[in-house]
Amino acid sequence: MQKISLAIHGGAGTILKEDMTPELEKAYLKGLEDALSAGYAVLEEGGSSANAVKAAIVILEDNMLFNAGRGSVFTKKGVQEMDAAIMDGKDLSAGAVAGVRNVRNPIELAMEVMRNSNHVFLSGKGANDFAIKQGIKLEPDEFFFSQFRYDQWKQLRDSDNYSLDHTHQHLEELMKDKKFGTVGAVACDCNGNIAAATSTGGMTNKKYGRIGDSPIIGAGTYANDKTCAISCTGHGEPFIRSVAAYDVSCLMEYKGMNLSEAMNEVVNIKLPKLDGEGGMIGVDAEGNVALVFNSAGMYRGARSSDGTNFVGIYKDNV
Ligand code: ASP
Repeated sequence: MQKISLAIHGGAGTILKEDMTPELEKAYLKGLEDALSAGYAVLEEGGSSANAVKAAIVILEDNMLFNAGRGSVFTKKGVQEMDAAIMDGKDLSAGAVAGVRNVRNPIELAMEVMRNSNHVFLSGKGANDFAIKQGIKLEPDEFFFSQFRYDQWKQLRDSDNYSLDHTHQHLEELMKDKKFGTVGAVACDCNGNIAAATSTGGMTNKKYGRIGDSPIIGAGTYANDKTCAISCTGHGEPFIRSVAAYDVSCLMEYKGMNLSEAMNEVVNIKLPKLDGEGGMIGVDAEGNVALVFNSAGMYRGARSSDGTNFVGIYKDNV
């Protein structure tokens, strides 16, 4: 019988237990549980993997704790510019947006690009115009604002540094974790079709219209029923240079590796050679799931009809 599975991430990085408070840890775990439940419900009802990953991502985008949608980080200019992508492994259709503003759920816009445009990748003002035309929900700047991200940005804005959502102090020491914060989901549905989606605010203090790996098909997001569906998180530049998500697919297709072997090769062998810190989640068309990271932690979770049901943050969690 076809196994249905969903895996999610909420960013990878230097997430250490000693930097976390019990309250914050609970809030993160609940955010992950909520996203898993939303996405898995779609799969249980016989819905498609694309709809399942979108449902999970919407919950994470709406959750202020994660660097995507509401609660995204600030750019050098003090605004929030968001990137997102979705890919359907059934027919290799894909949709992505970069540098969009005021779009409540960038993943919905990416889905709209995939389903209702003749294009794959829209950026900036044009992507926003498309959102308006398609009736995608917009929100004012205040909706996306979080004091914590703002304070984080204030510490960097006069420098040329950008940060992968590294936090410094503030939010009453609550959010002392150093993490990347992007969100992602991959799923396998009851027809053995797989899909991947990723959404992010990118990096604090980013400038010049910097775009990371998340919305780039093949780098941060990729899905192909023949091999795997992958969503990445981490320092975007090395993930782009190593075409990380597609490389996992290639290792499976051309070298005959299984999902975990291929992900392990990319995350633990290839990316470290480029100083690429981070991780990825993946599924294959049999519903096998893998969550692999080379950083101290990765917000993550997985649920599957074989009984798997797990959320975790640190390395020592399964
Ligand atoms: N990969 C994302 C980027 O570079 C950051 C992240 O994963 O948190 O924009």
